[in-house]
Amino acid sequence: MSTILVTGGAGYIGSHTVLELLNAGQRVVVVDNLDNSSAESLRRVERITGKTVDFHLLDLLDRAGLDLVFKRHQIDAVIHFAGLKAVGESVQQPLRYYHNNLGATLNLLGAMTDAGCKTLVFSSSATVYGDPERIPIVEDQALRTTNPYGATKLMIEGICRDLAIADPAWRIVLLRYFNPVGAHISGEIGEDPRGVPSNLMPYLMQVAVGKLPKLTIFGNDWPTEDGTGVRDYIHVVDLALGHLAALAKAPTLPGCTAINLGTGTGTSVLAMLHAASRMVGRLLLYLFSQRRAGDIGICYSDATRAKQLLGWAATRGIDDMCADHWRWQSRNPDGYATSTR
Ligand code: NAD
Ligand code: UDP
Repeated sequence: MSTILVTGGAGYIGSHTVLELLNAGQRVVVVDNLDNSSAESLRRVERITGKTVDFHLLDLLDRAGLDLVFKRHQIDAVIHFAGLKAVGESVQQPLRYYHNNLGATLNLLGAMTDAGCKTLVFSSSATVYGDPERIPIVEDQALRTTNPYGATKLMIEGICRDLAIADPAWRIVLLRYFNPVGAHISGEIGEDPRGVPSNLMPYLMQVAVGKLPKLTIFGNDWPTEDGTGVRDYIHVVDLALGHLAALAKAPTLPGCTAINLGTGTGTSVLAMLHAASRMVGRLLLYLFSQRRAGDIGICYSDATRAKQLLGWAATRGIDDMCADHWRWQSRNPDGYATSTR
């Protein structure tokens, strides 16, 4: 049994990963400041698994507090989810994004170095490919970003690479996620965005529960089969299991290794809307509007490296993603606030 520190473990992807770690018999320590999440997610994870999480309400910008966590626990490896993640907000508030995402990561890497813990799995993103040169996207493709959020991911990848060059004892896996959707099959934990969602799936699900009238589809003139944007949607449980595979294989991956976590398949907005409509049992209303500023048309992964290096591949399809997301959303129309009101 190992002890894994999960930063941002109360959040959407973090809580699903904590659940799978506990199911796999690992000890889990979570650090989260609950800036974009609720402790209720972890209470539910404990209920589902019948196991406990060691939760520290802490901001990663608090280096002294972080050092205490490493003193209190013998941490074997870290999964680093904590960060701000809204692209549009990062354009409005760049300093907040640079300060939080870079400051938190520098503190974490410093605390890990001092504690002699040198195994890290980091949440990167397909956003580091910008408007991709080639589809499907392979990891060695040119990297570029178009917004401050993406810039923080790219900078953190660079910091990790430099660290691994300076000290070959590090084992760092940079996981570049495509589009996480869905929820745990229990319907007990899921994505709980604050305010009006900016991403497709949570928006669609709020249309489905009647909180929003209709989906606005950003553009029907993209060079795709039906003219709407194409993305590589990946079930959050597959994504979580990708982190367990990365932890297991990290000892065999010297230095710093970037790996896509996607399905290798693209799905259009209209195809997703129809799949969700089938699950919900009625056609979800939509209208077409202009393309969203800064959007790209087509983005999906080449998932070969994950298979080769991690022995991992996504197994859940679009229908599972819609069914599981819908179960979560319909049982928790107001997210975690549904039970804490
Ligand atoms: P989330 O907002 O649900 O989870 C992030 C968690 O980090 C939250 O619980 C938040 O409270 C916490 N946090 C933020 N700053 C912190 C700080 N300074 N100290 C302590 N805790 C802090 O987001 P998510 O969707 O679970 O994403 C997790 C990670 O994956 C993020 O780094 C995100 O950028 C990355 N990612 C997400 C997506 C996506 O579409 N969801 C795609 C690619 C990459
Ligand atoms: N999208 C849309 N309406 C929305 C939200 C998203 O048409 O309200 C489209 C968007 O243009 C893109 C796809 O859905 O083609 C996925 O968008 P999302 O923001 O979820 O992911 P990202 O663009 O960051 O990959």
